[in-house]
Amino acid sequence: MNDIKLEVNNISKTYVSSKGESFRALKDVNLQVKDREFVALLGPSGCGKTTLLKLIAGLIEPSSGEILLDGKKIRGPGANRGMVFQKYSLFPWLNVWENIEFGLRLNGMPKEKRYELVEHYIRLIGLMGFENAYPRELSGGMQQRVAIARTMVTNPEILLMDEPFGALDTQTRSLMQELLLDVWEKDNKTVLFVTHDVEEAIFLADTIYVSTAQPGTIKAKIDVRIPRPRTFETKTSRRFLKLNKQLREMIREESIKAIQSRKRSEKTPARNLNVMEIFRTAIYNLI
Ligand code: ADP
Ligand code: MG
Repeated sequence: MNDIKLEVNNISKTYVSSKGESFRALKDVNLQVKDREFVALLGPSGCGKTTLLKLIAGLIEPSSGEILLDGKKIRGPGANRGMVFQKYSLFPWLNVWENIEFGLRLNGMPKEKRYELVEHYIRLIGLMGFENAYPRELSGGMQQRVAIARTMVTNPEILLMDEPFGALDTQTRSLMQELLLDVWEKDNKTVLFVTHDVEEAIFLADTIYVSTAQPGTIKAKIDVRIPRPRTFETKTSRRFLKLNKQLREMIREESIKAIQSRKRSEKTPARNLNVMEIFRTAIYNLI
């Protein structure tokens, strides 16, 4: 049996601005994610991680190469891929329960089944008692837990996570990583998790692909080989520390290159999503 879930074959992406200037974000990227595997893509800011996830989500098209999910070429968005974004993207007018339930309602799932699933996920993410809370009443970590549940509840073939804990403080981030692993171990989903954080990649993943700075391409594939379940103590194990040192050196080199190239082409600053963008990003998970 072929247990490859996702295959990224020789993907390149060049953005062309309205002025006709082109920018090569990705060059000949190759990676594979096996069924039920947790894969991290690790690379410095600006190396094309979000671009790759958008290509896999079918939100943009590659300049060359192809992406296969279960052997079928990706041609556009689909409910078989669930995306969790870095920016909180919950519907502000829906409470926790309704946010998680939203996609199931849209898919026409009967009420009893919906109830069962939403309750299951609220328990998994530890938000019992917060069912009626609105996003504005929740901390960043809680909001991201709801975003993860909302994506997982629709049972996509693969979860695409774009630095979902990037905006959280160190302690919350650490707890969220443990929670994600706990949920993942119980739910057995295939995950492609994008991050620039070395420790996060080692702690979470079975396999880490390391990306170069502009244009992004795969520089190394690391087999993590740290037993599960992983706990807080994992982060002080010998294997963890060895990988941490090795990967930090790689990423440092790439980060220096990224900073140098950014000086040449200034990046536009990040901004918060507006309501329409929140709606659009959430809808991407359902179509
Ligand atoms: P990462 O997620 O690794 O930080 P991105 O995929 O967001 O990287 O971006 C990779 C590079 O492509 C960056 O230099 C970014 O400025 C550029 N880029 C991203 N989106 C666009 C776009 N729509 N048009 C032009 N350049 C873009
Ligand atoms: Mg990004």
